[in-house]
Amino acid sequence: MKLPIYLDYHATTPVDPRVLEAMLPYFTENFGNAASRNHKFGWTASTAVENARKQVAKLIHASAKEIIFTGSASESNNLAIKGLADGAGDRRHIITMATEHKAVINSAKRLGREGFEVTFARVQPDGLVDLEDLKQAITDKTLLVSIMAANNEIGVLQPLAEIGRMCREHGVLFHTDAAQAAGKIPLDVEAMNIDLLSIAGHKMYAPKGIGALYVRQRGTPVNLVPVTDGGGHEGGLRSGTLNVPGIVGLGKACEICRQEMAEELRRLAAMRDRLKDGLLAGLDGIQINGSLEHRLPNNLNVSFPGIDLATLLAALGDIALSSGSACTSGVPEPSYVVQALGVSEEIANTPLRFGLGRFNTEEEIDYCLGRVIEAVKQLRAMASTAAA
Ligand SMILES: *Cc1c(COP(=O)(O)O)cnc(C)c1O
Repeated sequence: MKLPIYLDYHATTPVDPRVLEAMLPYFTENFGNAASRNHKFGWTASTAVENARKQVAKLIHASAKEIIFTGSASESNNLAIKGLADGAGDRRHIITMATEHKAVINSAKRLGREGFEVTFARVQPDGLVDLEDLKQAITDKTLLVSIMAANNEIGVLQPLAEIGRMCREHGVLFHTDAAQAAGKIPLDVEAMNIDLLSIAGHKMYAPKGIGALYVRQRGTPVNLVPVTDGGGHEGGLRSGTLNVPGIVGLGKACEICRQEMAEELRRLAAMRDRLKDGLLAGLDGIQINGSLEHRLPNNLNVSFPGIDLATLLAALGDIALSSGSACTSGVPEPSYVVQALGVSEEIANTPLRFGLGRFNTEEEIDYCLGRVIEAVKQLRAMASTAAA
């Protein structure tokens, strides 16, 4: 077993060696610009891009023409939300929720400053959106519901099929940020009535700097206005020379996930449950944040009331863990996601996020379990000595 151990797969994942292998020729001999129409270099690149488009589409039961490549899931979220605004007409109301990624929340807030009404649907104590509240929030002015597939801190899965059905019944568009869910759990944009779906390459064993957005074309097509203007790449929606190696990598990553998802899901859930059961057996007074039933198989989020989280993280120096999202600055702040569950300040201040992934072993999980229990007991003993 090699140290440090990586247990922060929600922040980013390593590139799968099979993905890297597929990408490599597109940096060197197949370096062409996919938009070059007059020679073999361009044709080779564009053929690879179209193959990747099919691979991404297949993972979520979309068709290839509904996939556009972007630079990140943040960009996909921005395009999905802001790209709808221009054609909104008098539908100037957006519904989202407080536990979304900042790329969704801040895109919605920007539209809020531009005259849109933004409603945050109630989040239940288990992290699931309150469907009744969501339904009540929909009016004939509602343009879009944006509710994530899986949360990046607490791993909670939202009821996409129910939300999709509700949106379809009311003629409202449905966007889901699937950065954490794509490749981890089955997603079906047809069965779930999803109109827009964001994907991040680096959360699913493809490189950083590549993302995708699914934009519904079947049935009632979604009309987006580009955020980036230029040469009109990606059906005019995302100008900029295509990141061919990244796209090839994302396609390959989607194919691997599709083929191995069922088994990987079982393996990760078993390791996660081993960690959870071990922590609960070894330590009193800890709290698991978010639903255990509706949850990513690779996520565990536990609060340690009474413990200084920064000290605990420092004590666990040979394990790469996180207190929450990696997106914000280095300043320790209570997690806004855990806070939204309506927990005490103590709980919101002390969440530890365990993100398991493809390359973790049972041995690593057992090591981590032992180290966390040991460190927490030590910190508690020191605190009670200091108090006495
Ligand atoms: C990581 C993440 C994003 C942002 O993805 P990038 O590709 O890093 O921009 C958005 N939403 C969720 C849920 C994420 O986990």
